[in-house]
Amino acid sequence: MTVAITLLGTGSPLPSADRAGPATLVRAGGAVLLVDCGRGVVMRLAAAGVFPVGLSAVLLTHLHSDHITDLNDVVTTHWVMTLQETPLRIVGPPGTRQVVDAVLAMLALDRRYRLDHHADLTWEPAVEVTEVSPGDRLEIAGVTIAVHETDHRPVTPTVGYRIEHEGTAAAIAGDTVPCAGLDELCAGADLYVQTVIRDDLVRAVPNRRLQDILDYHSSVEQAAQTAARAGVRTLVLTHYVPPMAPGQEDEWRAIAAAHFTGEIVLGDDLTTADSNRAGTSGPSPAPPPAERT
Ligand SMILES: [Zn+2]
Ligand SMILES: [Zn+2]
Repeated sequence: MTVAITLLGTGSPLPSADRAGPATLVRAGGAVLLVDCGRGVVMRLAAAGVFPVGLSAVLLTHLHSDHITDLNDVVTTHWVMTLQETPLRIVGPPGTRQVVDAVLAMLALDRRYRLDHHADLTWEPAVEVTEVSPGDRLEIAGVTIAVHETDHRPVTPTVGYRIEHEGTAAAIAGDTVPCAGLDELCAGADLYVQTVIRDDLVRAVPNRRLQDILDYHSSVEQAAQTAARAGVRTLVLTHYVPPMAPGQEDEWRAIAAAHFTGEIVLGDDLTTADSNRAGTSGPSPAPPPAERT
């Protein structure tokens, strides 16, 4: 069977004209899972042929703003496009309920406007929050989701998700340095998606606040070393800091390839990879209408 990912957003907190914020779509069996909700996520979901109403669940790796900033758009668009009350499932580490409650509070006026205006819209946004901790296992839409600990201190708690379906596995790590939990998350996975920074480029920028990020992200080298140690088949890099410039792909790939001999996938938003074939850079073809949700 197949587990497939689409890098919806390959950016970071640094604004980029071409890269949306961190978000990854995972499809396995009948499950359609959105991991993180960075800047522009609903636009990129649409480009991948998915509307929020088609999501089985939203999984949050941690509650840093760049990973949740457009959760409100996912919640609202899901709500206004449902034809009957349908809960949007949101899974994340402790603190997720607080964030979701705050999102709903922010949208209170909008909810009132729409409820007053649309006679057939008679329900509030339905959101089902599950707060998870390392060691938890969930079954959602026929796939198993195992929660693993990551290390993004001082940001805590943070988790990664191992999504398993009929012998295939995708390990989706958020921001983290190498650690034992990350090794467990990735062990033998078909796909390992890691947010990365180029520490050599970041060190070259004389900006104190930018230097701070060096100690709690994986560098490209470290992501490749984790991939090699864990024996994954395909390493997928995302969340490029600084934004990967046009023509730099080979340079980034070569840095990883010095430490990992498997397939390495990186590229623009909407780059895809799956457990059966090599990754492809750039926008994936839109699915046929019947598959649209
Ligand atoms: Zn973070
Ligand atoms: Zn981040």
